[in-house]
Amino acid sequence: MYDYLIVGQGLAGSLLAWRLINLGKKVLVLDDGHTSSSSMVAAGVINPLAGKRFNHAPQIHDWLEAVETTYTHLAQQAKEPFLQWVDMLRLFHSPEQHHFYARLPGQAAIADLLGGSFPPDEPSQPVQAPLGGFTQHRTGYVRLPALLHFLAHWLREHQALHIATVNHEDLEISAERVCYGSFQAGGIVFCDGYRSMHSPWFGYLPFAPDQGEILTLTQKPNARPGQLPNKIINGAEWLLPIDDGMFRLGSTHNHQTRDHQPTKEGTNKLLQGMNALLKNPQLLELVRSEAGVRPATSDRQPFLGTHPTCPKAHIFNGFGAHGSLMIPWYSEQMCRWLMRRQPLPETADIARYRDKIA
Ligand SMILES: Cc1cc2nc3c(=O)[nH]c(=O)nc-3n(C[C@H](O)[C@H](O)[C@H](O)COP(=O)(O)OP(=O)(O)OC[C@H]3O[C@@H](n4cnc5c(N)ncnc54)[C@H](O)[C@@H]3O)c2cc1C
Repeated sequence: MYDYLIVGQGLAGSLLAWRLINLGKKVLVLDDGHTSSSSMVAAGVINPLAGKRFNHAPQIHDWLEAVETTYTHLAQQAKEPFLQWVDMLRLFHSPEQHHFYARLPGQAAIADLLGGSFPPDEPSQPVQAPLGGFTQHRTGYVRLPALLHFLAHWLREHQALHIATVNHEDLEISAERVCYGSFQAGGIVFCDGYRSMHSPWFGYLPFAPDQGEILTLTQKPNARPGQLPNKIINGAEWLLPIDDGMFRLGSTHNHQTRDHQPTKEGTNKLLQGMNALLKNPQLLELVRSEAGVRPATSDRQPFLGTHPTCPKAHIFNGFGAHGSLMIPWYSEQMCRWLMRRQPLPETADIARYRDKIA
């Protein structure tokens, strides 16, 4: 008998399982081999001032502290670095962004996130910046596929990973326990990404899945040092330098499709964006295009908690475009809720949608 079954070995299910097992719980993660994994496609960028208005969440410093401690702890365990801090150059791409930026330097809470601003056409990186911009600190990225491979291995060592597609009709969730084939558990946590929107238990929550395409590029052999960025560049598109002369370029947003196949249009749109971003775009060549579906929500807040009438069914989901930044901290909150019923942050607690249940 398990304490918890967890559906999904994306970043959410993996970190939650890792914490629960470390707290002494018996857990089994069920995953279909990352068939619809947003985490395996994502660039893993951490950006505390997201969006064109550069807004920040009130808990941003808690999130960043959990990012540092969680990924560092895992890196020590794996003897492999997962988290990379890299400054970000924010390039204004509309005149109104000057006004949004002007509000920032006066805010003591985010002083450590801001480097200086730079005037039009004077960026410190080989990029085109006709409207100027500013530098951000405490940004970076997580090597998500490497982290998830390590955690899959770790879960297997703990007899805590089973590869299978979970069909909802094969799950029996009563007031006392959960049964799935021969597996029995005291509860089940759905970390199944956007596919939770089809769940008989959590389909009532307002998911707003956001499909995205992303490219991997490599620098050509004739590229010389300094001709391509070594910081994250974030304008209308963003470019992330990763290991061994490789780059990620992203990403599109599409609320109409849930296709995991990249398209020619998506690739072309991103490459055009890159041409407008870089001084030397001809030095990069395309390696591959990928697509995934972000488990986004209509109020842009995650979904954490327990089903209002089915006390053994829980959800830990809805991290949208910011899973790398948010999941470390929210997985701690979710453990406290599951183990001690310590209240969840109100903005994330699915109790806010209690009236939506039929
Ligand atoms: C193009 C793109 C770029 C992105 N870039 C970033 C970024 O730079 N930074 C960032 O923080 N976030 C980014 N994201 C978002 C990020 O991927 C998510 O926030 C996060 O990874 C979600 O993790 P998750 O574990 O909730 O979901 P997922 O990673 O989707 O994991 C769900 C898992 O459950 C499995 N599953 C689902 N249903 C079942 C079932 N019935 N049975 C068995 N298994 C099942 C799936 O196959 C999958 O393995 C990006 C996403 C996309 C698509």
